[in-house]
Amino acid sequence: MRSSDPRGRPFTGVTLDRVSTERKDPAVIERLHRDSAARAVLAGHDGVLVATDADAVLRTRLDAVDGHAREPILLGLDGSTALFAVDFDALPVASREELTEAAALVPLREAGSSLPPGEAGLAAYATALLNWHRMHRFCSNCGAATDSEEAGFSRHCPVCATNHFPRTDPVVIMTVEHDDQLLLGRRSGWREPRSSVLAGFVSPGESAEEAVVREVQEESGIVVRDPVYVSSQPWPFPSSLMLGFAAQSDGGTPSPRDGELEEVAWYSRREIEDAIAERNPSLRLPPPVSIARFLIDRWVANADQH
Ligand SMILES: [Zn+2]
Repeated sequence: MRSSDPRGRPFTGVTLDRVSTERKDPAVIERLHRDSAARAVLAGHDGVLVATDADAVLRTRLDAVDGHAREPILLGLDGSTALFAVDFDALPVASREELTEAAALVPLREAGSSLPPGEAGLAAYATALLNWHRMHRFCSNCGAATDSEEAGFSRHCPVCATNHFPRTDPVVIMTVEHDDQLLLGRRSGWREPRSSVLAGFVSPGESAEEAVVREVQEESGIVVRDPVYVSSQPWPFPSSLMLGFAAQSDGGTPSPRDGELEEVAWYSRREIEDAIAERNPSLRLPPPVSIARFLIDRWVANADQH
C-alpha cells in the first residue's frame, strides 16, 4: 500500500520554526529585522521568486529589499536565520529588475511541482501569508485601516479593537468507491477529458464528514457513507486547506445536479490505471501536485491489495 503519510506532499514540509511565542515581542522582531543575516522570500501575484542557479526559493538579503518596512512579516527561523516574506509587487521597479537577474518569478502551481517539497511549502506559506495581508488591510467589522501585529500573524483594528487572523478555508475532497469503481467528475469549464474526484467547501455549522456526504449528493446525486479522513494539503489559491477523505457508496447512476459539474461517472480501476499511465485518451487525471491525484493514486494502490 502506498503511504498516506503527508511528508513529501506538495506545499507541505516547511521546517521553519514559526516562533509563535517570540513573535509577540516587538523587541525580538526588531532585532531579527535589523540583523544583517536576515533573508527575504519574495512573492507576488505572478508567483514566487525562485533562484535560477538552485532548486530553491530565493533567499535574498532582507536589508536590500525591505530595510525600512514598517510592518515586517516574519515567516520564522531557518536555523538561526530569520526569514521574512516580502511583497514582490510592492517593490520599486529597479529592485524588481535587479532581483529577476538571478531569479525567476515562478507561478505557485508550477513551483509546487518543480521544487522539492519543503521549498514548495515555503513558497506556499509566504504566498498565503502575503495574500492574506494584501486582502485584509481594512477591518471587516468597521472598515478602518488595520495594523499588522505579531510580525504578520494577525491584524488589529485600532478603531473597534477587533483582531483578525489569517484565514484558512476548509475544503473536503474525496474518493468515492463502489464495486471497484471510482466516482470522477468534470467541472464546468474544464476541457475534456479532464476529470477528478469531487470537492467542495465546508459550510458553517457542518463537520468535514457531513460536508463529504452533502457535497457528493449535491454534485452527483450519489449517496455516500463512512467517510474516513486520509490526509490534508494547503492549497493557497488563495487560502484553502484541502481535507482528503475516502468514502464508500452503494452505487447508483450519477448525474450533475447543482451546476458545478458538466459530467460525472463511475470509472473502473482499469480505466484509472490506464489514465495514470497516460494511455487512456478518454480520461486525463489531475497533476501530481494536487491532493486529488494523491487520493486517486492511493485508491489504486489500495485496490492492489484486494
Ligand atoms: Zn474595526
